[in-house]
Amino acid sequence: MRRALAFLVAAALLMLAAVWFADRPGSVSIVWQGHRVDMSVGMLLAAILAVAVGAVALHGLWRLVVHGPRRLARWRHERRRRSGYVALTQGMVAVAAGDPREARRHARRADVLLDEPPLTMLLAAQAAQLVGDESEAKRQFRKMLERPETEFLGLRGLITQALKTGAHDEALRLARRARTLRPQTAWVQTTLFELESRSGDWRAAQETLRQASRLAALPPATARRHEAAVALERVRQAAAEQRGADALAEAEHAWKADPDHPAVAAALAERYIVAGKSRAAARILEQAWSRQPQVDLVDLYLRAKGAQAPLQRVKAIEHLAGLAPRHVDSSLALARANLEAKLWGEARRHVQRAIELAGGTATVRMARLMARIEDEEKGDQLAARVWLGRAAEAPADPAWTCGACGAVHARWQAICGHCGAFDRIEWSAGHRVATPPPVIESPNSTPPGVPAVIPPVTSDPPRAS
Ligand SMILES: [Zn+2]
Repeated sequence: MRRALAFLVAAALLMLAAVWFADRPGSVSIVWQGHRVDMSVGMLLAAILAVAVGAVALHGLWRLVVHGPRRLARWRHERRRRSGYVALTQGMVAVAAGDPREARRHARRADVLLDEPPLTMLLAAQAAQLVGDESEAKRQFRKMLERPETEFLGLRGLITQALKTGAHDEALRLARRARTLRPQTAWVQTTLFELESRSGDWRAAQETLRQASRLAALPPATARRHEAAVALERVRQAAAEQRGADALAEAEHAWKADPDHPAVAAALAERYIVAGKSRAAARILEQAWSRQPQVDLVDLYLRAKGAQAPLQRVKAIEHLAGLAPRHVDSSLALARANLEAKLWGEARRHVQRAIELAGGTATVRMARLMARIEDEEKGDQLAARVWLGRAAEAPADPAWTCGACGAVHARWQAICGHCGAFDRIEWSAGHRVATPPPVIESPNSTPPGVPAVIPPVTSDPPRAS
């Protein structure tokens, strides 16, 4: 529009000029080297105009000859780049849409068109992963390690692959390399922490956890709980290596980090007992019992109290149970102590109270205690068998259960020996089972790294972590 207007104005001006010159005729004579040329002023102006137009055209031609090839090359390069990015974008869209064939096609095209290996390598790796070609993906990730700008990304890809295939040693090595590159990245620290715990390198795990907490990579409550879990494993390690003072220090550290951790009270109390600090042990156990009674604590409490004679034991348990009088485990602990002291009536009364507190249905332990009472008090084999029959059908008692896979463990441990999950084992109500649960022996002889595990009693398939 604007151009058309400009053209019209220029044409009008030219016409005006032509009319003006036509109204004012005149002539021009040029004498040069003995030649004479006569012409009108209009002619002269037309000639000047023609020469000017010719000069402009010549200049344009010259520029085209001199700069043309370079411009052509630049234009072609630009077009290539643009198509390359279009291919890259389409490839990424195909990856997101889960279309591996398209993704690979565009990846190859982008690789040919673009001189941007970091981008095309990533797309090629993702496309390969989409079709399940892990070795091609690995090749691409490895190629990425060679360039500083993609090294970290390549490491991340390789770590994820190693974790998926269960190559934990490889993942650990790569994660350590990733940490030297970017120690401030949260996922590096949390992944490293998981791998170090899994490998049983608790000292390194403790340090990594501290760094992860500093980066706020974990919610504070989770970080504190994990800190206690790691410290508990270090207690176990130190105790196994006869480093009593270290074991006690770690147990105290665990208690300070998270006194609510389900395994911390028993560990600290045990270290106090070993160190001859029985009163401190009893105090910790009483605190723990008032918060969350747990059968594991009963024997420790009796040891802390030095209660040997049956009646002494009943008295000690009466004190402990008084701290959580409405809890099933308090009644059960009392029932057992009375049974061992041959106080049948009391024992029976406490089991019945436990059944009542449990909602009217006897659990496995309750039914077995009743069977023992019937058998030992009156020698009533028939009644005892009835109770044992009930035990077979009864809901399981609380036990150390992995929250991730449901495996039941003989004792608490930081790593679930069944699924490898970290710090997921809880003291929790068992699951209804059709057969009596296996008798859980104290696996003190279990070497570290080979956790005692009883297969899950749930019907859910164990979840791989
Ligand atoms: Zn598990």
